[in-house]
Parts: sequence; C-alpha cells; structure tokens
Amino acid sequence: MTGNGQIPFLDLITPHLELEEELVWVFRGILETAGFAGGPFVEGFEREFAEFCGTQYCVGVASGTDALRFALIAAGVNAGDTVITVPNTFIATAEAISQAGARPDFVEVDDRTYNMDARRLQEYLEMRCVRDFRTGKLLNAKTRSPISAIVPVHLYGQPAEMDLIGELAERYKLVVIEDACQAHGAEYFSNKENRWRRVGSIAHAAAFSFYPGKNLGACGEAGAVTTNDAALATKVRMLRDHGQAKKYCHEIEGYNGRLDAIQAGILQTKLKFLPDWNRQRRENAHRYNELFGAQDDLITAPYEPSRAKAVYHLYVIRVRYRDQLQRHLAQAGIATQVHYPMPLHLQRPYASLGYKEGDFPVTERIAAEILSLPMYPHLEAGQQKRIAHTIFELLSTKASIAGSQISQPYPSVGIARS
Ligand SMILES: *Cc1c(COP(=O)(O)O)cnc(C)c1O
Repeated sequence: MTGNGQIPFLDLITPHLELEEELVWVFRGILETAGFAGGPFVEGFEREFAEFCGTQYCVGVASGTDALRFALIAAGVNAGDTVITVPNTFIATAEAISQAGARPDFVEVDDRTYNMDARRLQEYLEMRCVRDFRTGKLLNAKTRSPISAIVPVHLYGQPAEMDLIGELAERYKLVVIEDACQAHGAEYFSNKENRWRRVGSIAHAAAFSFYPGKNLGACGEAGAVTTNDAALATKVRMLRDHGQAKKYCHEIEGYNGRLDAIQAGILQTKLKFLPDWNRQRRENAHRYNELFGAQDDLITAPYEPSRAKAVYHLYVIRVRYRDQLQRHLAQAGIATQVHYPMPLHLQRPYASLGYKEGDFPVTERIAAEILSLPMYPHLEAGQQKRIAHTIFELLSTKASIAGSQISQPYPSVGIARS
C-alpha cells in the first residue's frame, strides 16, 4: 500500500478482517438464540464499557445523537432552556440539544486546542446572562431563556478543558454533559482531583457514538451514555425504551433508542482491542508530529496540552492554501477531509440564533485552514512519510513563490503560531 497506491482516509476493512472469526461467532450466537433485543451482549458491553471509562453506569443506546439527547433530558434540561456548546463540532451536538427541546447557543473555541474556550464561556455567563430575581435562575439576557447545561465536545479525540468548565458550571449551577463521541479512551489530568481521568467519567454524564468510523465503532449504528448518577442512568434506560420501567408500564413518553444486541456483541469484542488501537493512533500522531516538526513555519500540527492524552480520532493540521493542498493530495491518491468546513453558527438550521460571519472569528479561521489527514491504527510509517512529502512539495513551492514576490504578500489572515 505504501508505493504509489491510494492512501484512504480511513481503513475500516483491515480491523474487521482481522477479527472476522470472533465477529461471526457473535452473529451466529445471536442467530441461534434469536436474542436480537437486550440480553447478555447488551448487558455485557454496558458493564465492560463502564469499567473502561471508569464510571458506575453505562446505558447502551441507538446512536451518539440519542445518547446526547437522552443524557440532556435525563439531566433535567427542559423545553425552552438554552444549552451552551461550540460552533466547531459535528451538527449532531446541536441537533441533540434541539431534540431535547432546548435552544443551542455557542461559545468560541480555543485557537490551539480547537475545543471550548473556558474564558469565553465565563464571558458568556457573566456578560450575556442575568439572574431571574424570582427563581434565581440564570437567563440569557436577550432571549430570557434559562441556561441549564453545557456540552463541551472532546473534538478530534482531544479532551476539553474540563476543570475550568466544571468550576463555572458549579458556580452557576449548570449541568455538564460531555460529548465524548470522538474521544473513547482519551484522558485528562484533573488538577482538582490530582489524577488522570478517562473522558466519559469527568462530568455529570457523557455521550459516546459507536458509528463505524469512530475509535470504537459498531458494524452499524450504536451509542452509549456513561455516568455515576444512578437516577440519571435509570432515566436514560426508560427514555431509550418508550419510557417503560416495566413492560407496558410507561412512566413517561420515551423513544425507540435501544442498543441493538448484534452491535453490542460486536462492540464487546472490539473493546478488547481499543487500548491497542488508541496506542497505535497516538504513535501515528507522534510520527506525523516529527515529520512536520521541521516545517512548523508551514504546518501547524495538533497541540496536545500536557494535561491531555488525546486519542486522535482525527489528525488535523492547519495550513495556508488548504483547498489547493487538498486537491494536490487527492491527485497523489491521498484522501483527506475537513472537519468541519462550515461552522454551525453559519449553517441554515441555526440562522434563527441571529449570528453572522465574524461572530466567531477563531472558529471561522480554523474552518478555513484545517485539514484532516489519514489517521487509523493500521496506517503505516511509509504512508505517513509519503503524505508528509506530498504536503511539503506543494507548501514549499507556495512559500518560495510568496517569498520572491514582495508585491504579493501573504494573505492578511495569518496562522496562529503555537
Ligand atoms: C459522531 C458524532 C456525534 C453523533 O453520533 P451518531 O452516532 O452519528 O449519532 C455527535 N457528536 C460528535 C462530536 C460526533 O463526532
């Protein structure tokens, strides 16, 4: 694969072929017992994934979006509330907030980690909110909608700044739900507790997606909520299954959002390999970092704070001439993607929030400069060298042209240096 062959963005074939025998065994077991819904695979996976995250409870659901929605509802988010997240995320984060009946609102991200900027969150809570004198609730000053929760996203597999976000949440009595859909196994050093913690165990509850391309992926759709709150776990269990606590006894109106038993069995099998796969992803990220280190005037590699152990769901660089570089790589048979090209505050479904271009300058600049390179456990060193070489090829030509044409300086929007 390393010669002049194509380098895919993602390799979902190799790991499944390697595990074919075990995965077929799961499927056969379920066929023989017709245990399609619930049962030992679902319970087994829930137990093992809770243990993996370091939480007491895990509730399997049908997708990451359901996990976020159910966690928000179970945590007490009401219709008409406002829930704060970031504009630089996959739309599912905001969709789940709307599906819980709330209104998503955004705060800016950090220029180096691309995750929620806790100082901007503080600014939002202090400057754009007021206290309701009668209820004591924090309201958005403009919309008068109560702020009830914060959803930080561990984007690209990098933990968000949870200590600072947690402190603010405590001060303002807000719930924090982690969007851990890209960060299975990532770790964060909590200064408050003086120990490393797995994402999924840091806030009130967390949502995971097991969409096939995630670090832990099903062979179809799946998700989970993790938490240490027994009542929240019970509520999510009801929400995923039509609101029933007992069969045909409905406490509330719920949803059809159960975890499929076949997917649970597949996830249970694959979970054993997740620590190894994450280690390989980290090694691949370090190899990329070394390759790009000598060219840090042209390429900004991902920034990993000393308090974070990222799991590199995506390896995202920042460059000028991003679109041209993406075309150049495609011509060389190297597949790349952009996560995400249009920030949520500029997407049509959120037009009613009234944001315009320029409102989140860091997010907007990131969106114009980021490029996700091939990243998966089975990526080979030779492939990474070829990718780096192909990137240098274009960027060094660009840099020397720009350097020789003094009348045509660099575009005014610069890349923030770390
Ligand atoms: C994948 C993803 C989701 C949604 O997960 P689904 O399983 O596709 O519903 C939510 N948030 C983020 C950040 C994601 O990457």
